[in-house]
Amino acid sequence: MTDRTRVTRSPERQRTDRAELYRILDDALVAHVAIVRDGLPRVLPMGFGRGGDAIYLHGSTGSGIFRMMASGSPISVTVTHLDGLVYARSLFDSSMNYRSAVVFGTATIVADPAEKTEAMRIVSEHLMPGRTAEVRPMTKRELAATLVLRLPLDEVSVKVRAHGASEEPDDGEDRSVWAGVLPLRLTALAPETSPLTAPGTSVSASATAYAARIAGAADAAAAQAEPAVAARMP
Ligand SMILES: Cc1cc2nc3c(=O)[nH]c(=O)nc-3n(C[C@H](O)[C@H](O)[C@H](O)COP(=O)(O)OP(=O)(O)OC[C@H]3O[C@@H](n4cnc5c(N)ncnc54)[C@H](O)[C@@H]3O)c2cc1C
Repeated sequence: MTDRTRVTRSPERQRTDRAELYRILDDALVAHVAIVRDGLPRVLPMGFGRGGDAIYLHGSTGSGIFRMMASGSPISVTVTHLDGLVYARSLFDSSMNYRSAVVFGTATIVADPAEKTEAMRIVSEHLMPGRTAEVRPMTKRELAATLVLRLPLDEVSVKVRAHGASEEPDDGEDRSVWAGVLPLRLTALAPETSPLTAPGTSVSASATAYAARIAGAADAAAAQAEPAVAARMP
């Protein structure tokens, strides 16, 4: 841990377990990447993938932010899961349940063709598991037009809030008002077939499996939450 990654606000929410960091990154589809450009901060959302102790970002060789990152500008990347809205009996005490990770560092270009191909596979499989086996490999031209960056997970913080409502007692709360958590989950709807698809073609196994996996995770989380609600009922 560094001075920069030490959580000072609600420090009990800091996590240092590497496996928890990996889970937070692996379960997320989007990262927000921050960089200072022309003296001003910018935050941009991006897809990413994790391979071992690094995350990979990919973008166009023509992208300004990618060129800046590639030239060694310091960056910060954050990933967030919003797990629930916490309803306390005052707005001040209300909160959110979340798991989030922040990474600081400097990205380097993945230049070696084999490593670059592998990094692209990692990003693709992270976002659309199973898809690389269903479509053609990237062409040399596509690879040449893509800048792939590696950011080591060296300076990282993880912060998690995962509990019910808490509040300052007797500060004027209306005790007849409900307090609790509204759990939130990412879910997937039925795949929508593109007109590009030849008639009679079934939905790709990768899309079907991923939809089921996301829906299953949401169902499992809901099933876990239900007994807690039932236990409070008279
Ligand atoms: C979905 C979500 C919503 C939030 N909404 C609010 C809000 O509305 N208002 C608010 O004040 N705060 C909110 N937070 C918490 C916010 O992220 C900060 O933790 C908080 O504002 C304290 O910031 P700080 O710089 O004073 O913290 P410090 O503890 O001083 O930060 C020191 C270091 O701790 C680490 N750190 C801090 N926060 C996080 C984090 N969330 N995840 C991983 N590492 C972290 C970073 O490395 C940071 O450099 C939210 C967090 C999430 C995930």
